Amino acid sequence: MRCEESVALLPAYLERDLSSEEAFELEEHLRSCGDCRGKLRQLEENRRLLSSNRLRAFTAPPPLADEVMERVHLEKRLRERRARLFNQGVLIGLLALTNLLLVFLLMHRTGDR
Ligand SMILES: [Zn+2]
Repeated sequence: MRCEESVALLPAYLERDLSSEEAFELEEHLRSCGDCRGKLRQLEENRRLLSSNRLRAFTAPPPLADEVMERVHLEKRLRERRARLFNQGVLIGLLALTNLLLVFLLMHRTGDR
């Protein structure tokens, strides 16, 4: 295996995404190539830094966390209000319909007389 191939496979190797054959060939190459070992170590280091950054991102600073929570609550309240408004709308619609029906029936009855 040449260094180019080896370097191309390193990320997948770290993810354990290589076939056992590929991993074997790569490890064989790494054993004899200090350059690629160095690159592997660099990659590992980068990944470690990235994941620790990700952890830091999860614990958001309090103001941001508050804002997010507030938005979540607001969204929830809005959704509840919308649902209530929708229910009221349905109720009003039903009332209007029964009123119309009543008016129609009354008119019909007076027309009979
Ligand atoms: Zn190499």
